[in-house]
Amino acid sequence: MEGLEGTLAELRDTFKSGRTRSVAWRKSQLRAMIEFVQDNEEEMFKVLDQDLGKHPVEAYRDEVGVVAKSAKLSLSCVEKWMAPKKGNLPLAFFPASAEVMPEPFGVVLIMGSWNFPISLTLDPLIGAISAGNVVVLKPSELSPACSSFLAEAIPKYLDPKSIKVIEGGIDVCEQLLQQNWDKIFFTGSQRVGRIVMTAAAQHLTPVTLELGGKSPAILDSSSNPTNMKVIAKRIVAAKWGSCSGQACIAIDYMLVEEKFASYLIDLLEKTIKQFFGENPRESKSLCKILNKNNFMRLLDLLKDPLIRASVVYGGSVDEETMYIEPTILLNPPLDSQIMTEEIFGPLLPIITLNNIHDSIEFISSRPKPLAIYAFTRDETFKKQILSKTSSGSVTFNDTLLQFVCDSLPFGGVGQSGFGRYHGKYSFDTFSHEKAILQRRFFPELEPRYPPWNNLKFQFIKLLYAFNYIGLLLLLLGLKK
Ligand code: NAD
Repeated sequence: MEGLEGTLAELRDTFKSGRTRSVAWRKSQLRAMIEFVQDNEEEMFKVLDQDLGKHPVEAYRDEVGVVAKSAKLSLSCVEKWMAPKKGNLPLAFFPASAEVMPEPFGVVLIMGSWNFPISLTLDPLIGAISAGNVVVLKPSELSPACSSFLAEAIPKYLDPKSIKVIEGGIDVCEQLLQQNWDKIFFTGSQRVGRIVMTAAAQHLTPVTLELGGKSPAILDSSSNPTNMKVIAKRIVAAKWGSCSGQACIAIDYMLVEEKFASYLIDLLEKTIKQFFGENPRESKSLCKILNKNNFMRLLDLLKDPLIRASVVYGGSVDEETMYIEPTILLNPPLDSQIMTEEIFGPLLPIITLNNIHDSIEFISSRPKPLAIYAFTRDETFKKQILSKTSSGSVTFNDTLLQFVCDSLPFGGVGQSGFGRYHGKYSFDTFSHEKAILQRRFFPELEPRYPPWNNLKFQFIKLLYAFNYIGLLLLLLGLKK
């Protein structure tokens, strides 16, 4: 890639100049981001439609609105977030003060994703700006209309000396990853996550990996069948209503008691028709499959005769238009690809269990998911899910909304990634928390210095065991 070294040198110079550290610069960029979103709403709807067939309402809910909300929150809070926080000190250090001061990492690489190509690229950028970093933004080449839109529009709004958009495919990613970054924020697959982490290790660069995995939904049928219509809507929304299941927090598969499966399938069918019509192929509310590769990957998941036999709803495909009907499968083999790999598309396996409590063992014996959804009113069951499974998030009785709660950290654990962002967590993710200790020259504690003797040893032991007041009370015989 031509000029990468020059681009990075310019960014380093900008960072060294201190320009991005000031609250004024950060606020000006956040204001510019808000302006960018306001001015380009229609354009973003257009490119999201081109790349993914996203309806403007979905595009606003999952992308444009998310970015606007984040930028506004950061603008109103950034000064507070930047302020050093006082720390407590043991009295033995007296007189002294302790502070934690957030400082920007420096030159940051953000690698965005194609499924939410606006929000998953610009939301981390808002965090990086708030924290005072300079940034290379690499939108996903797999959503080309969004990528070129960002490359063209961002420099018109944000400080071009501090924020650069670099477009390109795998070769460009490889070259970018060879560079010495101060922080890498990557959203994508576990496979590329490993490549990113390996490259970062060469320079000991900290990374945030926003990955995916198989996020299950548990349906406790004993709990509240009266709310089933609401539950069905939330399940359909989380499988087909957000980028057609091409979402990291989409429901990957469902766990339900055997006796309840046919009732659930019937209700899901009705809800799919309610949302997307009798012929979902014609629906403007269903996103398209990204590209031929992803379409073929999904077809591969379906091609095994045993899998085909498990289809209980949908299943029709059209290679020419890359259409896959919303599809429900009942009990595909657990060792099949569809139950061992992230689906990332409009296919929903339902796995039946004799007892819904077995879902805990089912989930905990597999890699830690990004999200767990559980529909239940049973408080004991909720506690067991929380204490016996591990995941990026747990959402009870709803789906997807955890993504737009700024007070909640968003990120994975184990194979679903590490690090987190959103709201203040984004600021923290792009900041180093510098520890600052200040002391005076009096009083001086001689026992901390050599030459060592037993008296000093006993004194130091006492210091660690008690603070000054404790020590004083001990010496006065008022403490045992
Ligand atoms: P991907 O990992 O295949 O691609 C991501 C980027 O990596 C692309 O820009 C690509 O050019 C680059 N890349 C690919 N091969 C590379 C290589 N060998 N060296 C360097 N760079 C390389 O991801 P994807 O298919 O675009 O996205 C799907 C995955 O992302 C799913 O697993 C999904 O769960 C996950 N995801 C996670 C989140 C989240 O927030 N946690 C959000 C969206 C997607």
